[in-house]
Amino acid sequence: MSAAFTILGAGVLGLSVATELATRGHAVTLVDPAMGPGGHGCSWWAGGMLAPFCEFESAEEPVLRHGQASIDWWERHAGGVSRNGTLVVALGRDRAELDRFARRTEGFEVIGGNRVAELEPDLAGRFDRALFFATEAHLNPRVALAALQSGLAARGISVTAGPPDDAGEVIDCRGLAARDILPDLRGVRGEMLVLRCPEVTLARPVRLLHPRVPIYLVPRGEGIFMLGATMIESDRRGVVTARSVLELLSAAYALDPAFGEAEILELGADARPAFPDNLPRIGRAAGRLYANGLYRHGYLLAPALARQLADHVETGDKPEFWHETDDQR
Ligand SMILES: Cc1cc2nc3c(=O)[nH]c(=O)nc-3n(C[C@H](O)[C@H](O)[C@H](O)COP(=O)(O)OP(=O)(O)OC[C@H]3O[C@@H](n4cnc5c(N)ncnc54)[C@H](O)[C@@H]3O)c2cc1C
Repeated sequence: MSAAFTILGAGVLGLSVATELATRGHAVTLVDPAMGPGGHGCSWWAGGMLAPFCEFESAEEPVLRHGQASIDWWERHAGGVSRNGTLVVALGRDRAELDRFARRTEGFEVIGGNRVAELEPDLAGRFDRALFFATEAHLNPRVALAALQSGLAARGISVTAGPPDDAGEVIDCRGLAARDILPDLRGVRGEMLVLRCPEVTLARPVRLLHPRVPIYLVPRGEGIFMLGATMIESDRRGVVTARSVLELLSAAYALDPAFGEAEILELGADARPAFPDNLPRIGRAAGRLYANGLYRHGYLLAPALARQLADHVETGDKPEFWHETDDQR
C-alpha cells in the first residue's frame, strides 16, 4: 500500500531515498532549505568513485557487499556510469604500500607495465606494477544528483524549502546538520580540487598510494579531473588549507608531471557525516526515521540505504543498518 513521506535533505542520500520511494509508488515531498543539491552539501564535493573493492582496504564487509550492488542502481536511476575499473599505483619508493593494499582487499589483478600502458597510455613507462580493479565504476556526482532531481521532477516531485502541513512520515537525511538529534555523528573533513589538464587523458580513476598522502584522480571528461581527497578528523567545512593544496598537487605531479601545467578550476572542502564505526545507520530519533553516516561512501552506499529504508517502511522489518540507542533496546 502506498504511503506519504517527507524527506529532509536533498543531498545524495535524500535524493536516493526519494527516488526509491517514488519508484515504488509512494507520495514523496522533498524538503531542503537550499532548494536542491549544491556547494552547501557534502555530496557536491565527492569524487563519485563507485569503488567497493578499493574501499574495502579500510572499510567493513557491508561496504563491499552493498557497494557492488549500487553500481546497477545508479545506472538504472541516473545513468552516466563509467564502468572502466580503477587503477591503483605506487611510486617505486612506496612499493610496500601496493603490497599492503593488495593484502587488504580483493577483486583485482596484478598487472605489469605493459598492461598499465594499454589501460592508461599517458602513464606508460611510469609504473611497472599496478593493481587493476576491473569491475569498479565512477560517475560525475553533480550530473548524477541532477539526474535524480530531474527523475523526481518528472514524477511531479520538486524540492521545497519548508515542509507541507500534511507531511506524512518524516525521514531525516540532513547529513551533518542532523547532529542536533544524532549526538555521535561527527565530521571527517575532505578537501579536493578540480583541475583542467588537457595534456592528460585518463579513462578511469587512478589512485596513487602513499603512506601519508594517498590521492586519487577521477576523470570528468574534456581534460577535467577531480583530485582528492584529504581525510581529517574535523567538522570544519569551507576553504581548503595551503598544506592540503600543496600535498594534493605534489602527489598529482608525482603521478604525472603534466599536472604541473594544470589549471585549478575549483578548491572545495566539506565534512563527511560519520558515526564512530564509519558505517551508516537507519534508526529513529526525535520521533522520526533517519538515515545518515555515509562517511566516505555516499554514492557507494546511498542506494543500499534507500532500499533498506523503503523495505523497512513497507514491511516494518529491521534493516541491516538499523541502529537502536540503549534506551530504545
Ligand atoms: C572530498 C570528498 C570526496 C568524496 N568522494 C566520494 C566518492 O568518491 N564516493 C563516495 O561514495 N562518496 C564520496 N564522498 C562522501 C560523500 O560525499 C558523502 O558521504 C555524502 O555526500 C553524504 O551525503 P548526505 O546526503 O548524507 O549529506 P549532504 O550531501 O550534506 O546533504 C545533506 C542535505 O541536507 C540539507 N539540510 C540541512 N539542514 C536541513 C534542514 N533543516 N531541513 C532539510 N534539509 C536540510 C542540506 O542543505 C544538504 O543539501 C566524498 C566526500 C568528500 C568531502
